[in-house]
Amino acid sequence: MKNKILKYSILAAIIILTIVQVGCTKELQMVSDSTYMLGTYLQLSVWTTNKQEGMDTIKSSFERIKEIEDKMSANLDESEIGQINLNAGKTYVEVSEETVDIIERAIHYAELTNGAFDPAIGKLVKLWGIGTENERIPTQDEIQNALQLVDYQKIEFQGDNKVKLSEADMRIDLGGIAKGYAADEVTKIMKNKGIKHAIINLGGNVVTLGKKADGTSWKVGIQDPFEPTGTHMGVIEVYDQTVVTSGNYERYFMADDKRYHHIIDPKTGYPAENGIISATIITNSSTDADGLSTSIYVLGVEKGMQLIESLENVECIIITEDKKVYTSTGLTERFQIIDSSFQIEN
Ligand code: FAD
Ligand code: MG
Repeated sequence: MKNKILKYSILAAIIILTIVQVGCTKELQMVSDSTYMLGTYLQLSVWTTNKQEGMDTIKSSFERIKEIEDKMSANLDESEIGQINLNAGKTYVEVSEETVDIIERAIHYAELTNGAFDPAIGKLVKLWGIGTENERIPTQDEIQNALQLVDYQKIEFQGDNKVKLSEADMRIDLGGIAKGYAADEVTKIMKNKGIKHAIINLGGNVVTLGKKADGTSWKVGIQDPFEPTGTHMGVIEVYDQTVVTSGNYERYFMADDKRYHHIIDPKTGYPAENGIISATIITNSSTDADGLSTSIYVLGVEKGMQLIESLENVECIIITEDKKVYTSTGLTERFQIIDSSFQIEN
C-alpha cells in the first residue's frame, strides 16, 4: 500500500512538473518595426521568445544602418563619401575601414562587368537627379562632360584607408551596393543576438535569416514591374539567403511618354535601355546581390546571364519589357510564376 502511494505520488509529481515546464516554454512571437532611411522604407521583423530583446535588436540594427548612412551617403557632404567627393582632384581623405572595403567591393564589380557597374557614376547620378526635386533630362554637352568623370580606375588609394578621386568634380556613389552592405550588417547583429528567424527588408533588399518559425522556407514575392508595389508576379522559396531586385519602376520620371529611371549606363550616360525592367539576384551576401542586380540591369539579358552562370551559388531572375522571364539554371525548382501573363523564356 505504502509503495503504491509512493508510486502515485512520484507519477503526480512528474505530471505537475511536465505541466509547469510546458507552461514555461515561451512561444516565439514576431516583433517588427519600420523606419525611413537610406532614402527608402526599411522593415525589420524578428521572431523571439523575449519581446524586449527583439525590440532592442531592431533598435541596434536601425542605429547601425544610420551609422552606415552617415559614412556612405553621397547625399551628405559630411559623410566619408561626401568628403571624398568634395576633395576630388585635390587631396586624399582618410575614411573608415568599412568604407574602403565597400568601395573596393564596388570596384570588384566594376572590373567583373567591364565598367557596366561603376561606383564613380556619381556625376551622372547627380546630373539626372532622378528621385530628387532636380530631376531633368540633361543636355548632350552635360552628359559628354559627365562621362569623362565616370571611371572607377581613377579612384586612388593610399595606405590602408585613404581615398582620392584623381579628377576634380568626380563623384563616388555607392547607391548601387551599400544598401546590401547595410542588410548584411543587420543580419550579423541579429545572429549575434541569437535570433534564429528574421526578415530584413531594406527597401526591397530582402534577407531571410534562418527558416520560418514553423521550419519551412520563406516565400519571397517578386514585384510585378507593371503593377503597384506589393503586387507579385512570382514567388521564390529561400532561407538564409538574400533576394535583391533592381528595377525601373520605383525611381523614375516620365518625359514625352518616355521613362527615365535611375540605373545609368556608364557607356552612354543615359538610363540603361536594353529591354530589362527588373533584375533579381538570389545569393548569400546581400552586398554581392546588390552590386550584381545593378550590374545585370546594365549588362542586359545575354551578358548578364552569362555572368551569373559563371558565379558559384548566385541565381537570378530577369524580367524584360515584353514580360519574358529569364531564370538561371539553379533556380528552376524554387521559383514559381503566379501571373500567367509572364512567360518563362529559358
Ligand atoms: P540599385 O539598382 O541597387 O541601385 C541604383 C542606384 O545605384 C542608383 O540610384 C545610383 O545611386 C547608383 N547607380 C546608377 N547607375 C549605376 C551604375 N551603372 N553603377 C553603379 N551604381 C549605379 N536616396 C534618397 O532619396 N535620399 C537619400 O538621402 C539617400 N541616401 C542614401 C544613403 C545610402 C548610404 C544609400 C546606400 C542609399 C541612399 N539613397 C538615398 C538611395 C540611393 O540614392 C539609391 O536610389 C538607392 O540605393 C537605389 O537602390 P535600389 O536598390 O533601388 O537600386
Ligand atoms: Mg544594386
